[in-house]
Amino acid sequence: MKVSFLMPTQVFLEENAVEKQAALLQTYGRKAMLVTGKSSAKRSGAYDEIVTVLQEEGLSFVLFDKVENNPSLETVLAGAALAKESGVDFVIGIGGGSPLDAAKAIAVLAVNDLDTEELLNNTFTHALPIIAVPTTAGTGSEVTPYSVLVKKDIETKISFGNEWTFPKLALIDPKYTEAVPIKTILFTAVDAFTHSFEGYLSKRATPLSDALAMSAMEVFGQCLPALRNNEFSSELREKLMYVSLIGGIVITHTGVTSVHGMGYCYTYYQGIPHGQANAFLLRSYLDYVKEYQKEKIQRAMNSMGFFEIEDFLSQIEYLIGRPRELTTEEIATYTVKTMIQARSLANTAGDVTEEVVASLWAKTNPVSSI
Ligand code: NAP
Ligand code: FE
Repeated sequence: MKVSFLMPTQVFLEENAVEKQAALLQTYGRKAMLVTGKSSAKRSGAYDEIVTVLQEEGLSFVLFDKVENNPSLETVLAGAALAKESGVDFVIGIGGGSPLDAAKAIAVLAVNDLDTEELLNNTFTHALPIIAVPTTAGTGSEVTPYSVLVKKDIETKISFGNEWTFPKLALIDPKYTEAVPIKTILFTAVDAFTHSFEGYLSKRATPLSDALAMSAMEVFGQCLPALRNNEFSSELREKLMYVSLIGGIVITHTGVTSVHGMGYCYTYYQGIPHGQANAFLLRSYLDYVKEYQKEKIQRAMNSMGFFEIEDFLSQIEYLIGRPRELTTEEIATYTVKTMIQARSLANTAGDVTEEVVASLWAKTNPVSSI
């Protein structure tokens, strides 16, 4: 048995986490940069709470609120330029995975002179301290070292990260998700679930990551009836934040699989949100990996209260929908782009060659057209 484990983020998942842990902020310096998307940091209430505690602690800040969904390299470079110019000591990401991932890249670029390749190859050994305040329950980015960025020249998303890009502190308050639109709640919930599910089936899974993944999948299973009925109680929000948090810890140790590796194509070419993209790929993924991981898949299904894979997939498709049919040209392009995601493919059961990837894409189409 081989187990190694690193989780250097101090985590607080609790009601009013920001207010309760306010005193910790000054550990990181005198001036912060707040990194947010266009409006949700404010709509969620998280921005106001952070600003209030910064003021109470006598700390100053600058705001960078230009992070788009699926942040680009260009955006984080602009953020880093502002961070340098303003002489900030630490970075606070507030939002969904997009602002949190952008905050990590900005924290690195603000104190390192790196070209794009050096950044993406993790050629750095320091970064500004990062604090993460999630407003969606999905990516778990608050506890992962990963930052996923759009790289336009190669038409896909690329992730980077090392020990320096773990947030130092994660302040997780489920109430921030109250303003999230229903569809986004569903998509992000499935993203959180896929982290544990893919991590559980990853070639890098360990008994410790499996135990965490099992716990998250069980709780996700408990959430399904309420998600189906659109009953968004505070208890549900708390559970989804837990699933997201644990999913982040799991993928930090196991990586993701072909589901995430392929999903980036849906997002890049069709603008499909990250969690929905992952959900669209679960059917063809399970059809492929069930040959290799029958028992583990059965245990995962049982943990969520399912006995048949088909019942599980019907449930996911009821919540998320199904993808549109791809043309032969799209399958060819998506296959080539998926091969860039070598790490995710290497974590996937079996031997995921280019031919396998092409067949996985083909299988996303309705049976009649295969
Ligand atoms: P997101 O792209 O951060 O946000 C999606 C949408 O939800 C945005 O329009 C955002 O508005 C809105 N929103 C966020 N919080 C809200 C709230 N509390 N109330 C109302 N609206 C809210 O979505 P995400 O799914 O959380 O993150 C996806 C990104 O994370 C992708 O780029 C994905 O690749 C990455 N990801 C990273 C990791 C990791 O380990 N680092 C893991 C999985 C995925 P605003 O634009 O106004 O903010
Ligand atoms: Fe994800």
